[in-house]
Amino acid sequence: MQVTSCITGYHDAMSRVIPVIPLTDTFQRPLRDLRISVTDRCNFRCTYCMPREIFGPDHVFLPRSQLLDFDEITRFARIAVENGVRKIRLTGGEPLLRKNIETLVGMLAALRTPDGEPIDLTLTTNGTLLGKKAHALKQAGLNRVTVSLDALDETIFANMSDSGVSVKTVLASIDQAAQAGLTPVKVNMVVRKGINDHQILPMARYFRGTGHILRFIEYMDVGDSNGWNFDEVVTGAQIIDTVASEFSLEPRDPDYRGQVAKAWRYTDGQGEIGVITSVSQPFCGDCTRLRLSPEGRLFTCLFASSGHDIRDMLRADLPDQEVLGRLASVWGARTDRYSEHRGEQTEDGTRKKIEMSYIGG
Ligand code: SAM
Ligand code: SF4
Ligand code: SF4
Repeated sequence: MQVTSCITGYHDAMSRVIPVIPLTDTFQRPLRDLRISVTDRCNFRCTYCMPREIFGPDHVFLPRSQLLDFDEITRFARIAVENGVRKIRLTGGEPLLRKNIETLVGMLAALRTPDGEPIDLTLTTNGTLLGKKAHALKQAGLNRVTVSLDALDETIFANMSDSGVSVKTVLASIDQAAQAGLTPVKVNMVVRKGINDHQILPMARYFRGTGHILRFIEYMDVGDSNGWNFDEVVTGAQIIDTVASEFSLEPRDPDYRGQVAKAWRYTDGQGEIGVITSVSQPFCGDCTRLRLSPEGRLFTCLFASSGHDIRDMLRADLPDQEVLGRLASVWGARTDRYSEHRGEQTEDGTRKKIEMSYIGG
């Protein structure tokens, strides 16, 4: 095999990149996960993510011409997979609003690591369109889904999602995803004190024993539009105490470095739950996630203010080595540890942050 070298790795005769070492940032964190936001639009207006006062009829979303197309997304993803990425999550906005998303899923599912292994391909959705698409997504090669659901109570759900969608629709989608084999289905519940915290136990009771994994997420100060206040955060420890008041739980070891949710299992074998403690117990030290925005900007942190454009290189059809060079320099310069310094940054309140509905969870 003919091999040529450059600063970031080696290229074979087909110009595929063969890495020498995984890309690492300034804290030696490897690049392992890629989250791809395929749209900044959504059919919900969750109060903690896209409050209607800000994301109203006059809000200007990205024009279609600015979005990366499926070939551009897949090319960037391939270069990332050739250089350490092992897991890709599609997100948004609502990713199932992106037309023909199953085509993109098929293209990403065909990617292989330098060892010839498939990647772990998942998607996060609010579940409204999942019932219809679950089988097509599975057939295209999606491994699993995460479905967001903040309450079983219809009124609380309607208030939090600010949508006319019924809880029943989301629950039916979860069942259809499981039937299609997109398992285990994970269910994300953002917990806000005084708004849906009394839904913790009903949600735990409902999903216990189903094989689905309920994950409680601490309410985060993402973006600049949700008016976040620490008083509304219910910590992971408080959530676990609440569930443990009714069911016996024990902690479970993480499956891999960088696993976001801390896992707890029911001691009677009825499954497990997770807590995502981004606020009370930050996990920046193990953060191996890179984010690609709908119009092709790279973000090295969920709380970043600005990204690094990659679309110009993809549209100019520059060689893989040059795209990899930019990826390596963006990741190599990464210093992000926002959640570990949260107090200092939010009290000042001057720094702009990207919105969750634009970059995805
Ligand atoms: N629309 C899809 C959905 O809701 O599943 C995917 C995108 S959404 C931005 C991804 C995840 O981020 C969801 O599980 C959502 O609940 C979570 N999220 C949004 N805003 C949040 C916040 N302020 N704090 C914690 N989680 C948040
Ligand atoms: Fe839409 Fe998801 Fe944000 Fe809710 S959390 S507004 S469903 S992008
Ligand atoms: Fe990663 Fe940034 Fe979240 Fe820390 S704050 S875990 S660096 S995304």
